[in-house]
Amino acid sequence: MLSFILTLLVKRRQIMNCKFCEKPAPNNMQGYCQVCYRYFIMEHREIHPTPNLGEITYASNGDCICPFCGKAFRKLGLHFYYSHNMTSDEAHKKAGWDRSAKATNPDYRELMRKRLQIKCVKINLIKRGRSTRFRKGSEGRPISKISPMTLKRLKGVHMKKPSIENQGEE
Ligand SMILES: [Zn+2]
Ligand SMILES: [Zn+2]
Repeated sequence: MLSFILTLLVKRRQIMNCKFCEKPAPNNMQGYCQVCYRYFIMEHREIHPTPNLGEITYASNGDCICPFCGKAFRKLGLHFYYSHNMTSDEAHKKAGWDRSAKATNPDYRELMRKRLQIKCVKINLIKRGRSTRFRKGSEGRPISKISPMTLKRLKGVHMKKPSIENQGEE
């Protein structure tokens, strides 16, 4: 009787684990866990051959291939964390990658870089620069407002210039 219950438990356990990653899986997800169900069934994505140690490989759409399971994602950081219980640093080490190696889709990386750039321009130049921007009717920065130190520095620039030109002529 006990062995019967045990077999039942084992069987039940087998059914309840994801057939790909062996994480707990509800019965109604075709044998997959939630993450794998989404990956395979909903998004129709596939498993790629895993790269050799120290190699980074990309799927045809540019997604980075996980060196541990062959799934491909735009970025692997969160996948490493949730699916392999590793920080990005740990994963890079295990995969033989440099710390600086980019585990992201290059197109995605470029998109994010551009977005960040736009954000920086907006925040730094437009928003933060508001206080120093020229206003209509403002007298600007007349010589009387320039500090003696700056004035001295500016004069120094003018003084230096002719000497450089002279040197060139000689
Ligand atoms: Zn799974
Ligand atoms: Zn993986």
